[in-house]
Formats: sequence, C-alpha cells, structure tokens
Amino acid sequence: MTIERVAIIGLGLLGGSIGLACTECLPGVQTTGFDIDPETRARAAQRGLVGQVCDTPAEAVEKADLVIFCVPVGAIPLAAAQIAGSLPAGSIVSDVGSSKQTVSEALRSALPGHIVIPAHPVAGTERSGPDAGFATLFQHRWCILTPEADADPVALSNLRSFWEALGARIEIMDAAHHDLVLAVTSHIPHLIAYTIVGTASDLEDVTRGEVIKYSAGGFRDFTRIAASDPTMWRDVFLHNRSAVLEMLGRFTEDLTAMQRAIRSGDGDALFDLFSRTRDIRRSIIEMGQDDARPDFGRADHGSESDA
Ligand code: NAP
Repeated sequence: MTIERVAIIGLGLLGGSIGLACTECLPGVQTTGFDIDPETRARAAQRGLVGQVCDTPAEAVEKADLVIFCVPVGAIPLAAAQIAGSLPAGSIVSDVGSSKQTVSEALRSALPGHIVIPAHPVAGTERSGPDAGFATLFQHRWCILTPEADADPVALSNLRSFWEALGARIEIMDAAHHDLVLAVTSHIPHLIAYTIVGTASDLEDVTRGEVIKYSAGGFRDFTRIAASDPTMWRDVFLHNRSAVLEMLGRFTEDLTAMQRAIRSGDGDALFDLFSRTRDIRRSIIEMGQDDARPDFGRADHGSESDA
C-alpha cells in the first residue's frame, strides 16, 4: 500500500465518509480536502472529516498520491480543471461518480498525462452534505473500478488496495458496461421513485394528507429514495442518458405487459412475476447486500441506497 497522501475534492456524504474511513482504517495516511462551499469547509474542519481542510483545491492536491473527486458528476470538468496546474506528476486521479463514461472522458481531457482510474463505490444514503458522512459506509459494499485497458497496473493495484482497506469489495469493468448495469440497478429505480412520489403529490381526488397518512402501504419506501439530492441525480440522468433511455425502453415494455395482464385478468402472469421478484430479494439478502429486518438495521445513518 504506497498511497500515503489522499486529497478529497468535495466534502459531502462520499468525501466525508472517505476521510473518516481513512482515519479509522488507514491511520498512517494523511488526508487533505477542499469543498467549493466555505460553510461545508468549516463544518468539515469541525467534524474532522480530513486531516487538513484547505482553502483552495490547488493546496489540497499539491502533495497528493491520490486525488478523489467526490462532487456531482456535472461538476467534475470544472473541479478537474481547477487542479490541473497543481497536480504532482505520477499521482493517481480517481472519483466516486455514479456514472462513468462521461466522467472518465472529462477527467482524461482536463488532466492529460496523468494516471486516471475512475471508481464508483456502490454505497450511499439519501443524505448529503458534510454532516452525512460516516466511516463505515463502504464496509462490505462493492466498489467498481473502470480503468482503461492500458491502465498502469501498479496504480490500479494501489487503488484497489486503498478501497479494500476501507472495507470495500472490488469489481473491475469497463465504463460502458458499468453505466448499463447501474442504469438498471440504481438510476431507473430512482427515476421510478421520483415519478411515483411526484404523481402522488399531484393527484386531485386523493388528498396529500391521505397520501401521507396511509404511506405505510408501500409509498413511504419510495419517498426515501425520492428524498435523494436533486443536484446529484439531475447530473446522473444527464450524464448516463443513453443507458438510462435504453433501460427505460425495456422497463416501459414490461410495464405495458403488466397493464395488459391486469386488464385481461391474467392472474397467472402477475403471480409468476411476483414470485420471480421475491427470489431476487432473497438472493440480495443472502449476498449480504441488504438486511432482512424491516428497518434494514440502519436507524443511525438513514437507509442505504446505492447510487
Ligand atoms: P454531496 O453530499 O452533495 O457532496 C458533494 C460536495 O461537493 C458538496 O459539498 C458540493 O458543494 C461540493 N462541490 C461541488 N462542486 C465542487 C467543486 N468544483 N469543487 C469542490 N467541491 C465541490 O454529494 P455526495 O452524495 O457525496 O455525492 C458525490 C458524488 O458521489 C457524486 O458524483 C455522486 O454521483 C457520487 N455517489 C453518491 C452516492 C450517494 O448515495 N449519495 C453513492 C455513490 C456515489 P455544493 O453543495 O455547494 O455544490
């Protein structure tokens, strides 16, 4: 493990959690951090999210072996441009963005000649900002690395070791495949949650009071996901546009098939689908990616989502 100095750009949920996890799991590693919002910087210093909160991005990265961008994916081009003149040669540039193709391209074009290895820890909650982070966020969660085929093997191995030290399990895939997989496992579910909560709040013949009062019927689980950060999710849909539209096409066809089954009274079709989906839930619990308890065992930090 040769990464000794980590710079974190963006000190919200992900950046703060990486900083806290470094302190807990890699106490020999020095951490610096920068956030564009002065109030976030002040709160990050109070909480000790990183060893040193810097007033400029240049100061944060000037001695770093590893720089991790933890900003919304739409902010990455600007954030990368801001450190272009200060990044030491040979340092690894990475990120935690929820979509990977456009992020990889943005990092490579803003920081030519540097080692770029994008990453996505599939771990998160619906909370954001400098108070949201916690050290155990990445424990037993997958972190997907999306290196180019010719990526520096030593840098890749070092980045892998870094995430493993924070408790994550590593998967390597290409950026295009990542974007397709995450479109179906994360981005479309968020879109469905945002839509159903929007639909319920626009209804005319069912009151808002009734929607809230009877939310335990399923609605409240969607409201948790639909409470996720609007900036982050706007950027995810704009940056993973083609994979999301492809998966949305498939989903719309399946939804139409369900509509047809209900209209024609085809109970077997409904029962078959609902039985198959139950099996998927069981497999997720068996793989340790969720908890069978009704509150998911997560009362302390809000519920997890993947993002
Ligand atoms: P967050 O809590 O909102 O933190 C992001 C922080 O970055 C904010 O404080 C933001 O400040 C700051 N920022 C924006 N532009 C910046 C810049 N140019 N330089 C420095 N700081 C800047 O968001 P998050 O949940 O940590 O998400 C960060 C990234 O992680 C996103 O790319 C997201 O896709 C990815 N991710 C999120 C989750 C999740 O569940 N939330 C899970 C996995 C991956 P302002 O608020 O003032 O703009």
